Amino acid sequence: MEWLENLKQTDPELYDSIQKELERQRTGLEMIPSENFTSPAVMEAMGSILTNKYSEGYPGKRYYGGNQFIDVVERLAQERAKKLFNVPHANVQPYSGSPANFAVYVALCKAGDTIMGQELTHGGHLTHGWKTSATGMFFNSVQYHVKQDGYIDIDEVRKLAHENKPKIIWVGSTAYSREFPFEEFSKIADEVGAYLVADIAHISGLVIAGAHASPTPYVHIITTTTHKTLRGPRGAMIMVTQKGLDKDPELADKIDKAIFPGLQGGPHDHQTAGIAVALLEASKPSFKNYGHQIVKNSRALAEELKSNGLKLVTNGTDNHMILIDLTPFGKGKGVFVQDALDEAGITLNKNTIPNDPSSPFYPSGVRLGTPALTTRGMLEDEMKIIGKLISQVINEVKNYELPGDKDERIKYLKKFREEIKNNLVLKYVRKQVEELCGRFPLYPASSI
Ligand SMILES: *Cc1c(COP(=O)(O)O)cnc(C)c1O
Repeated sequence: MEWLENLKQTDPELYDSIQKELERQRTGLEMIPSENFTSPAVMEAMGSILTNKYSEGYPGKRYYGGNQFIDVVERLAQERAKKLFNVPHANVQPYSGSPANFAVYVALCKAGDTIMGQELTHGGHLTHGWKTSATGMFFNSVQYHVKQDGYIDIDEVRKLAHENKPKIIWVGSTAYSREFPFEEFSKIADEVGAYLVADIAHISGLVIAGAHASPTPYVHIITTTTHKTLRGPRGAMIMVTQKGLDKDPELADKIDKAIFPGLQGGPHDHQTAGIAVALLEASKPSFKNYGHQIVKNSRALAEELKSNGLKLVTNGTDNHMILIDLTPFGKGKGVFVQDALDEAGITLNKNTIPNDPSSPFYPSGVRLGTPALTTRGMLEDEMKIIGKLISQVINEVKNYELPGDKDERIKYLKKFREEIKNNLVLKYVRKQVEELCGRFPLYPASSI
């Protein structure tokens, strides 16, 4: 049977959108660092009949009947996670990364308690206490920053921790291209008696592969999404380390209760199954190579961008991610570069850079990464080609200036978007991108 044959019959309109999205994924370069291409096996688990079942509770302790096989599925996911991250406890039920993080607050804090995380505009995640997130509304959020050179300001972390005595300290972020100093953070958390939580949403695949240090010996809790470098379905996990259990023997129980009944009802069993499959895939030797290749590719790309005259936050990368600082061309240039690259078939996202002179909506940088391209099989040689193409596109649009006036801005951006449609360099880059993608087929018809 053809892929999505039933869907095609039932809902041709929706089917058409999925086919077009598949074509978009196949013919463009996916460089958003939080995205990846999960395997057909994971997608089969996600698309399975497990979506039919209710199973509130945990394996062996369910509120509904008929869960004997769901228990097997969930235990497989738990055991695989425990083994891969070397932890005594794993909860695989969080619906996604943000609710997983919120569950940590529910487990450890009361409303109004002090917590500490890396500020959003300095690379941190919304859920680490940013003001527009529930985590910034319901808790007293203290935020730390990166230094002028882009590295985490560990002296500030220590100072703020001692001054504010937070219940939780978050380490891990969403736009940071260097290794996280877990050991330094653990000393600080221990000095002030805080729970240290590593949010490794972005880097969990690298940690499994040994391409980034593991937080396990240093932190009490680890949260991660499962759909970024881990290459699984959308979802998340919360793990408790031995260090966490030593600090608080109830910690695993508190986390489980925070997820259910604290925040969620029935787990998404099809998602749990997809996570179990992804974890099995991540335990294979080929995944180690994958994780290391992501970093090699990222470094090769960073070098190429630099040799084309571009400025990078921290001047390079240790992981899968690169932040280009566009301020040498002026402020607020991220939107032009994102849109122009989109037009040329390269997808990445505008992003604030540390001490951004513009705003989060019109930031002065872009963030890009190599996990998805590496899944396609691309290597350092391809990164060099891509680095040149990106530099060419940036060169085409670097002189567009964002007007200060809000109405002017909208008009100006509209005109900009019309103009780039007819830009010959962008058309040329689009052709090169398609040629490159053709050499690294994604989801060939025989596989899905
Ligand atoms: C992506 C991300 C999350 C949130 O994940 P969602 O699944 O999008 O809710 C949390 N923390 C960090 C550091 C992330 O990068």
